[in-house]
Amino acid sequence: VRAILPDYVYRGGRFEAGLAVLVSESTGRIVDVVPAWPRSADRPAGAAAHVRDALAETIELPGRALLPGFVNAHSHAFQRLLRGRTQWRPSDSPEADFWSWRDAMYRIALALSPEDVFDVARFCFLEMLRAGITTVGEFHYLQRDPDGRRYADPLELARRVLAAADEVGIRIVLLNACYAAGGIGQPLGPLQRRFATSSLAEYLSDTTALGAAAAGSPRASVGIAPHSVRAVPRDWLPGLHEAATRGDVALHMHVSEQPAEVDECLAAYRLRPVELLADEGLLDAGFTAVHATHITPNEVRLLGQAGACVCACPTTESDLGDGFLLAGELLQAGAHFALGTDSQTLIDFFAEMRLLEYHERLRRLRRVVLTRAEPAGRIEVAPLLLEIGTAGGARSLRLDTGRIEAGALADVIAVDLAHPTLAGWTPHSLAAMLALCAPSDAVTDVWVHGVRRVAGREHSLQEPAARAFARVAARVG
Ligand SMILES: [Zn+2]
Repeated sequence: VRAILPDYVYRGGRFEAGLAVLVSESTGRIVDVVPAWPRSADRPAGAAAHVRDALAETIELPGRALLPGFVNAHSHAFQRLLRGRTQWRPSDSPEADFWSWRDAMYRIALALSPEDVFDVARFCFLEMLRAGITTVGEFHYLQRDPDGRRYADPLELARRVLAAADEVGIRIVLLNACYAAGGIGQPLGPLQRRFATSSLAEYLSDTTALGAAAAGSPRASVGIAPHSVRAVPRDWLPGLHEAATRGDVALHMHVSEQPAEVDECLAAYRLRPVELLADEGLLDAGFTAVHATHITPNEVRLLGQAGACVCACPTTESDLGDGFLLAGELLQAGAHFALGTDSQTLIDFFAEMRLLEYHERLRRLRRVVLTRAEPAGRIEVAPLLLEIGTAGGARSLRLDTGRIEAGALADVIAVDLAHPTLAGWTPHSLAAMLALCAPSDAVTDVWVHGVRRVAGREHSLQEPAARAFARVAARVG
């Protein structure tokens, strides 16, 4: 058991001074949160006897505040290669949009070997760790070889992603994607050949095998991820929901990111995507709709009544010109939120938290909008944003992380209270400064499953991981 002694600990929606957080590497959990002892004292008088006896090390972190690690509920690691490469359009093209971006993404997807997939995922996950992200929900749809054939081991690429996560030490929920169609009732296009799922039975047996592979790490698990209503036949949906329920795992799906998807769904089924999912029984507390941008008041009501989760990815949605989320309406209807870095156009959870609120301000011409009903007095923005970035993601991925309490997974981060951006902070303004103003390099130290993976902003694999990533990036040009 190790004791972490920062100046402040964030729990229950506020920063408290004078606490020690005791973490165990063997169980990967927070053992206890206790009054801190005087730094000079040999014996931690504040700790319970069983903990005092087990204490192996005291990590003093003066000038730091400890928070739960961020939970990134939606990521496609390989898209890290696209950063900066899609910010242009040919002069003879009248406009660029999501669909032209998608073609660029497909071309990158076709260029990667299994070794490349590992190198790109490893660097991407390392960048996440350094930004304070301790868990990634990796929505994995790159499954086949460049010719569209199943690898000799069908789990080849998924295993590379799991290995990348394992090597850098991030917690991962591999959301195994089911991707069978190029549009409703359409065969996959040639550029989609690496994503192909040929049958529901094949998908379910692959996912079971992947679950067994993930079980080798205490930091890895799997989830079920029908890609979208565009890519999965309607009659597969109940079987996918049943598998998620039976396995008690997360069920994630892209929903209504673009108007064209809604139009296609209406034309095929006379239902909008969320209505279709409700009809097929998918909407419940274990379901996460990624994006859910183009939805109606009725769809808001359906998601809210089900207590479903909506994963917003505001930097990606901004980059792709997706549109504004109906965040306030969803919150009021009873939906939960998580956040994702999605296309990795930026890996900065402070930015994701802040944009969720700022997009809502721009849409409503109001300030301080995403809040929960509170007793009289001050209504604050930061507690809900910080909760969405941590516990909200944990709920979406069905993990007991995202909070600093005895028994929770020991995934915590330290932020630098001397960072210039935070100058002038007070215990009352600190949460708002972090949620709305901090840059990702305010994060100095990161523990996952009780193990310190980032210390003083450094990760032990930083240089080799960056070199290997740069080689792939140079090659795919
Ligand atoms: Zn996505």
